[in-house]
Amino acid sequence: MKGEIKETMLGDCPICKSKNSLKALMFIHEIPYFGKVMESTIICEKCGYRNADVMILEEKEPRLYTVKVEEEKDLFTRVIRSKSGTIELEELGVTIEPGPASQGFISNVEGVLERVKETLIMTRHFKEQENDLEAVKKVDELLEYIEEVKNGQKSLTIKVMDPFGHSALIGEKVKSRLLSDEEIKSLSTGPYVIYEPNKQHYD
Ligand SMILES: [Zn+2]
Repeated sequence: MKGEIKETMLGDCPICKSKNSLKALMFIHEIPYFGKVMESTIICEKCGYRNADVMILEEKEPRLYTVKVEEEKDLFTRVIRSKSGTIELEELGVTIEPGPASQGFISNVEGVLERVKETLIMTRHFKEQENDLEAVKKVDELLEYIEEVKNGQKSLTIKVMDPFGHSALIGEKVKSRLLSDEEIKSLSTGPYVIYEPNKQHYD
């Protein structure tokens, strides 16, 4: 992946209130057969606050992307998830929604499953401490399902939706269609939207 890194000072940090300590690192690169994507990381040099996001730079429409993961090679389907993107892992009943802690990333299905696994292991730990054995059992089932998907024994339907069109799935098996106005309205965009190029979708 070739690209260039740009650096910009953004001003004061919203977390620690230090003066002029916030900077943005922006990295633009080109994904073959897809287009230009910008990864950005906002970093406070004083308190270490950081926040990552991704956006698709080409003119993109709000679409629903779907892929059915059935075999090992499907795990390499690329996932571009901006902070405004929602990822649904249908058979697991897991949804990753925009929120204050959400981060943008460029990864693949395997990477997304690893992220979900980490969160589930953390949840399992808390539920075990609360002695909520029912919840622990449920988490174990989800973790087992993820392993089976990774071994090609179970299938998993993955959906990616973004009201701003900044998130996508890329791969030969990926299907996509435009999101309806109703669907766009029902999607959460999260409290923090830094980039708002498609203002008409953001009321
Ligand atoms: Zn700070």
